[in-house]
Amino acid sequence: MSAKVWLVGAGPGDPELLTLKAVKALNQADIVMIDDLVNPAVLEHCPAARVVPVGKRGGCRSTPQAFIHRLMLRYARQGKCVVRLKGGDPCIFGRGSEEADWLTTHGIEVEMVNGITAGLAGATHCGIPLTLRGIARGVTLVTAHTQDDSSLNWPALAQSGTTLVVYMGVAKLPEVRDSLLAGGMRADMPVAMIENASLPHQRECRSTLAAMQQDAHDFQLKSPAILVIGEVAAQQQIHALAEIA
Ligand code: SAH
Repeated sequence: MSAKVWLVGAGPGDPELLTLKAVKALNQADIVMIDDLVNPAVLEHCPAARVVPVGKRGGCRSTPQAFIHRLMLRYARQGKCVVRLKGGDPCIFGRGSEEADWLTTHGIEVEMVNGITAGLAGATHCGIPLTLRGIARGVTLVTAHTQDDSSLNWPALAQSGTTLVVYMGVAKLPEVRDSLLAGGMRADMPVAMIENASLPHQRECRSTLAAMQQDAHDFQLKSPAILVIGEVAAQQQIHALAEIA
């Protein structure tokens, strides 16, 4: 087999939200390089593979991106079938495109497999439609955490009329609140904060823009969580089926 790396999205947590393509790639894998936010339950699809944790959280904080790049390259050049498994979708705040660029520059073929991103799953699992006719004409995914601290155009976001889905926002609630208020968003704009989306221990906290920091504190909101900010965050439609019987 020619040298190839699969960059695969593992989805938000519920193993049933894996795509068939992801399962197929896992089935063929010799090596699976896995991030922290991936539910280890998905590894049932690659019982024979060697699993290499390269997450940046607990224990492995120091796994630098350059090390991950070199490791993927080494395994691929050994002719191994490498799956780089990432939480959610590889290209939504997942550095998937950086890894793909680096590999192709080094002559390695890359195949990308979408995953369901946490923002979509979180909203669906608490009955929030991210777009809604007459209410939300779009959706904007943003991260509250930037490496170079470059700031987002908050006034434009506040006035966009789209639903905002904020990733990596738990530690930045005061900044997000203040920036959106300063940008002209209503203080009583509905907010939903969704922790561990799609997992059995998912929790959701409904609030408003002005109250979200205090409410998150009282709720003891923890990462990983997404924030849904916009009129639709007051909705509670039919829940997604947790499991297909
Ligand atoms: N590529 C991922 C996002 C990685 S960034 C995706 O597409 O989902 C990490 C951030 O994603 C976390 O800080 C959190 O905001 C969000 N996240 C990931 N998994 C989550 C989950 N199960 N529930 C809620 N938020 C999650």
